Amino acid sequence: MFRKISLLLILFLISACNAISPDAPAPIRFVPAATTQATAASSLPPASPTPVKPIVQATAPANTPPATARASAPSATTIAINLVPATTIQILGATYKSYQMPGDPFRFVCPEPCTVDPKLISAQYTGFRIAHAKLIKLTGVDTLPELLPVNIHVKNDQRCGNLSQSSSLSYASKWTNGNAYICTFLFEYIKGIGGQPYSPEFAVQLDQQTIFIHEYLHTIFFGRFADGGNQHDFVTPLALFVTDKLGNPDLCAYRPQTPPGDYGGHLIYELCRQNGFRISHLATSLIEQDKLYQSGGGKINQLMKHPLTTMAQFREILNRVLGSDTTKAFADACWPPALFGNSYVLPNSCTNRTPTVAPTRIPTR
Ligand SMILES: [Zn+2]
Repeated sequence: MFRKISLLLILFLISACNAISPDAPAPIRFVPAATTQATAASSLPPASPTPVKPIVQATAPANTPPATARASAPSATTIAINLVPATTIQILGATYKSYQMPGDPFRFVCPEPCTVDPKLISAQYTGFRIAHAKLIKLTGVDTLPELLPVNIHVKNDQRCGNLSQSSSLSYASKWTNGNAYICTFLFEYIKGIGGQPYSPEFAVQLDQQTIFIHEYLHTIFFGRFADGGNQHDFVTPLALFVTDKLGNPDLCAYRPQTPPGDYGGHLIYELCRQNGFRISHLATSLIEQDKLYQSGGGKINQLMKHPLTTMAQFREILNRVLGSDTTKAFADACWPPALFGNSYVLPNSCTNRTPTVAPTRIPTR
C-alpha cells in the first residue's frame, strides 16, 4: 500500500519540480497525467516562494570506515546496502551530516541533529548511486567539475527552506561560482504519510530514485544549456527511462498526452521520428558539447568557468551527430525560433504559439 502511495508521490514530486538557476529560472510546465497524482498533491501544504541566495560553502570531509547492513527488499530485487560514511560539514554556517562514498561527485546532506536513520539515508544513497551510474552511461558526461560536489539536501534546512513554505517540492540550483545542489524535502514529506515508515527496503529500489535522477539531470545540464528553461524536454523522459518508469523500454516510443517539455511539445519523440535520434546519440552529442564548452567555444557568459554553449550550438551538434537538419523536429516540438536566431513558424498544434525566450545565438564578431 505504502509503495503505491510513495510511487504516486514521487511522480507528483517530479511533476512539481523546478530547476532554478540564478541566471535563468525554469518554469513549471509538467502536469500530472493521472487524477490520482493530483489527488495526492491536493493534500500537500500550500506553496509560497522561498528565494535563496548563493553564499559561500566550506567543507571538511574526513571519511569514516563504512559498516555494512543488508535490507530485505520487497520485490525480487535485493540490493546490499552499505552504510555510507558520514562526516560533519558546514553549509551557510549551519552544521550538516554529509554522506558520501569516496570518489562520488555527490553527497547527501542532512542538517544536524540529523533525525533520519543512517540506514535509510544509506539506502536512498545506494539506490541513487546505482541509478546515477546508469544515468551517466546515457549522458556520457557528469555535472561540470566546477559545480561539484552536488549537495543533495533531504530535509528542511537553512539552504532549502521548509517544505511548507517552498514554492516547489524539489528543485535543483547552483551557487554563483559555487557547486550545484538539490533540494528534495523527501524525508520531510515521507514522514507525514499516515504514519507509515519509508523503509530502507523501499528507498533503495530503482523506482524510488526518479526524483533524485530528475534533479541531478538538471545539474548535469547546468552550464551546458544557456537557457535554464528548456531542460525538461530531456530531463523528464530521461529520468523516467533511467528508473524504468517510462512505461516502455524504447525512449523513442514515449509520447505522453501531456508533453514532457517546457514548450508544450515532444522534442525527443520528434527527433526520433524525423532525424533517427536514438538514446545512444545523447552521450555522443553531450560529449561533443562538453568539448566545445571546455575549449572556450561557448558564446554566453554566465559566471561559469567558460562561456556557455547556446541552444543553437547544441542543435548544430545534433545536426552533425544525426546527419540531418533538426529544425523541423524542434519546430514541431514547439521550440521557439528566437532561441536559435531562426524564423520558422510554429505549427498550429503548439498551444503556446509565442513563447518568450531570449535568443541564445550571439552574432559572431
Ligand atoms: Zn525539473
